[in-house]
Amino acid sequence: MRFYDDPIEISAEVWAELLTDSEVTRKEDLEVLKLIYESRNHEMHAKEIALKLNLSHHVALNSQIPRFSKRVIARTGVPPPIREDGSIRWWHVPFWGYDKRNGTGSWIMRPELAEAYKRIFGQDDSEIVYPGEMTVQDSTDLFEGAVSKIVVNRYERDGKARTKCIEHYGYRCAVCGFDFERVYGPIGQNKIHVHHLIPLSEIRREYKIDPIRDLRPVCPNCHLVIHSKREPLTIDEVKEMIGSNSSQ
Ligand SMILES: [Zn+2]
Ligand SMILES: [Zn+2]
Repeated sequence: MRFYDDPIEISAEVWAELLTDSEVTRKEDLEVLKLIYESRNHEMHAKEIALKLNLSHHVALNSQIPRFSKRVIARTGVPPPIREDGSIRWWHVPFWGYDKRNGTGSWIMRPELAEAYKRIFGQDDSEIVYPGEMTVQDSTDLFEGAVSKIVVNRYERDGKARTKCIEHYGYRCAVCGFDFERVYGPIGQNKIHVHHLIPLSEIRREYKIDPIRDLRPVCPNCHLVIHSKREPLTIDEVKEMIGSNSSQ
């Protein structure tokens, strides 16, 4: 099985332009790219991607990615990767990997694309530090009653829970109504925070997060205000503070 890593004349700068152009890179493409980017080596199997995105079958991806690639080629005008028989290896525009005709392999983001993705979306929100919360590593300390570190709580960093919360509530801040997606477009999607409603002091070892019951999307400003006291303010308390200025 041959591994395909043919070069393509698209630099990281150009990929960056393509990624922020919603006519080329659609929302569903960004979802796929995000998953791959966040995987080890920026590598992921199509079946796994389909599973995570709740696509009924990875065949759906095998038409979505070529459509994305076609828009990339149409916009840039660079020659696409071609098979010996003259057909175009569309998946090979954004990815490295094995040809589907020779069995299924995983997709690896081209380094220039990964670099571009990092430049645009790369800020890792999980590194943002907020008062009154704690890291994954510190969660054991929590159960032993030794809460000392001050960083974002693991429930707010849990990617799956976050995704479910946002799927349910959308990208609007539950406090002030600011809509990241509407205001900033695709880049904004990654910037909304989720706030965990249950005070850590009330959490027991057997606690299992319910993303819809326990999490709410909040903008970074409101999130900062919520955590401005040792005991987090409630969403209603912060809503009251901004009062009539709130958009909803
Ligand atoms: Zn807000
Ligand atoms: Zn929070």
